[in-house]
Amino acid sequence: MVSKKMENFIANGSAIRAMFEEGKQMAAIYGAENVCDFSLGNPNLPPPETIKKAIIEILDEEDPVELHGYMNNSGYEDVREKIAKSLNDRFGTNFSHKNIVMTVGAAAGLNVIFKTLLDSGDEIMAFAPFFGEYKNYAINCDASFAVVPASIPTFQPDFISFEKMLNPKTKVVIVNTPNNPTGVVYTEETIIKLAEILNKKQKEFNTEIYLISDEPYRELVYDDIDVPYITKYYSNTIVVYSYSKSLSLAGERIGYLVIPDAVTDFDMVSAGANMATRISGFVNAPSLMQKTAAKCLNSKVDIDFYDKNRQALYDGLTKMGYECTNPDGAFYLWVKTPIEDDKKFVEMAKKYQILLVAGTFFGCPGYTRIAYCISPKTIETALPKFEALMKEIKG
Ligand code: PLP
Repeated sequence: MVSKKMENFIANGSAIRAMFEEGKQMAAIYGAENVCDFSLGNPNLPPPETIKKAIIEILDEEDPVELHGYMNNSGYEDVREKIAKSLNDRFGTNFSHKNIVMTVGAAAGLNVIFKTLLDSGDEIMAFAPFFGEYKNYAINCDASFAVVPASIPTFQPDFISFEKMLNPKTKVVIVNTPNNPTGVVYTEETIIKLAEILNKKQKEFNTEIYLISDEPYRELVYDDIDVPYITKYYSNTIVVYSYSKSLSLAGERIGYLVIPDAVTDFDMVSAGANMATRISGFVNAPSLMQKTAAKCLNSKVDIDFYDKNRQALYDGLTKMGYECTNPDGAFYLWVKTPIEDDKKFVEMAKKYQILLVAGTFFGCPGYTRIAYCISPKTIETALPKFEALMKEIKG
């Protein structure tokens, strides 16, 4: 018999699994080329060539005992130092290896930092729409999870509700910019306002409120949009970074935390993240991938590929009358469902062999997410289907 907690996880996780199964069934009936699966955020671009080269060089040149052995739970010191230096060069920060903890991707980074900071009953606050897994990670550490309603149509934070909702139990506020699912990047003005409110509320409650900046999409931005580095605006910021999307290494599980010196109780928070990495069973991030990331700090996937998909979908759907948020970054298009019931819309789309995720899964009903990290051919196939779907709705 599994635990009650796990029983609930399994029950709630089955919708996405069901969608995956449905996609397979559709492919068997209609042919894989006619099924347009926009449901998953799995990068379909290969990693840059430099990755393969780096892996081969590392395997050829490094001492295999050191390369494949255990290490400090926070990761290789030289790798962390290189990452710190690269951040300093890019963002004018002042980090060293002491501020970096290597993680098994952003998912592990979030769980590690939550385990480090949260006692049972503490509160995590997120802004709708949000990456659905946050809620599960809150349950992992028995924290409560509060959601600030979406601010439509900008999808920048709703500061009026935010300020009202913050309370002495709020220990963590999480932001994700560029955002999954909206593609929105928070402006500098937004970050300044966020910092102002958090500083005010910390003082008022005499508590610490840690701002967790979840940044797996930092490198995926369009039109030279600037993504402010949040540690410079609010002292209690911890960054969660991942190479899953920026280098198309989602299966390799590599990322890092940035814990700046300025964070309250820095020594304990950083020792806690080291310990949480160990006792969560990660022990340390994959050694070969740590070294690979350090060798490829300036590499990027071909963002033009995603940009072309973005434009094709945005232009195509907007012309048909869909209301879309033009993404500044990431690889998701956030679309208002032409009927109020987003789940029903997603069901209707299935009749046209289009697989989408309902906004409800991101805490924002009335919308749907289209992941465009897919082949341009799928978009070409999908556009007439979206048009037929709109015609059906309009009657
Ligand atoms: N945070 C957000 C907003 C994501 O979209 C994802 C993955 O899709 C993650 C975290 C987890 O990423 P990783 O593969 O690095 O664990």
